[in-house]
Amino acid sequence: MSNSFSLHWGIDIGGTTTILGYLKPGGFEKIATLNTDPPSGPDSLLMKINQVISEADGTPCSAGAGIAGLVDRSEGLLVSSPNLPGWKNYPLRAKLSDILNCPVVIDNDCNVFAIQAIESSSIPDSGLWLMITLGTGIGGTIIHDGSILYGSGYAGEFGHMAVEATGKICLCGSKGCWERYAASEALSNYYRKQSCNDSYHSPKEIAHLASITEYAALSAFNEFGKWLGIGLVNLYHCFSPDGVYLAGGLIGASEFFLESAESEFHRRCAFSWNVNVLPSNSDAGAEGAAIMGRNRTG
Ligand SMILES: [Zn+2]
Repeated sequence: MSNSFSLHWGIDIGGTTTILGYLKPGGFEKIATLNTDPPSGPDSLLMKINQVISEADGTPCSAGAGIAGLVDRSEGLLVSSPNLPGWKNYPLRAKLSDILNCPVVIDNDCNVFAIQAIESSSIPDSGLWLMITLGTGIGGTIIHDGSILYGSGYAGEFGHMAVEATGKICLCGSKGCWERYAASEALSNYYRKQSCNDSYHSPKEIAHLASITEYAALSAFNEFGKWLGIGLVNLYHCFSPDGVYLAGGLIGASEFFLESAESEFHRRCAFSWNVNVLPSNSDAGAEGAAIMGRNRTG
């Protein structure tokens, strides 16, 4: 039984930062942002998480965790993650449950983000919708009538759909994966080519240059949009969704690439384009994780 001092915690473990907080009446309270520090390993991060939670008032009555990678929900394992090298077959659920002394549920980070979007009615609770996060990689979630479709466990890994049979090598072991063409590193590469400047520019810097109409930056975003459009055509053919929601770190720059994505889309298929941008909220993943923990435990 929960009492007024029992808290539903949510943890969003990304390749760079980990955000945690809990649900309170009327919303979600972020308590800490930690450095994930992948080379130090998952046990080290869990110690930091434990410290934050044990210093907070109230005892955890459930916790949910979203993590950037392949998650075996039934076994509670992080199977592998390109963004967390070396974190393989890690029993995240059992370890968290041990240190927090409460039931824990884990899922992929894109899925917990979608749970927040469904709960806050940003994604409709009827129909078939796809959510796609554009950042370091490409995450995906399939939502049908307000529920996430998992298939036999891992549905929605759109980033590893091949768009070039003999294309760029991907950390997943395949070649030509979509996220090698329409995520952060690809954008930086397009800019490098267009500007004939070998130094690294972050997506944020390229967005700034695009905002002052620098030709190379606008061309890099055009190329990025083209590849985004190609992947979206494939997804429309597979799912015939009511629409798509885009989110993630690159979405702040959507004004520079959505038009070219839409043109590419119309060049290749006759579906109607219904691609929307979700409001950006860096705490949404942790909030979705807390909601998932509250709903799926007990
Ligand atoms: Zn891949």
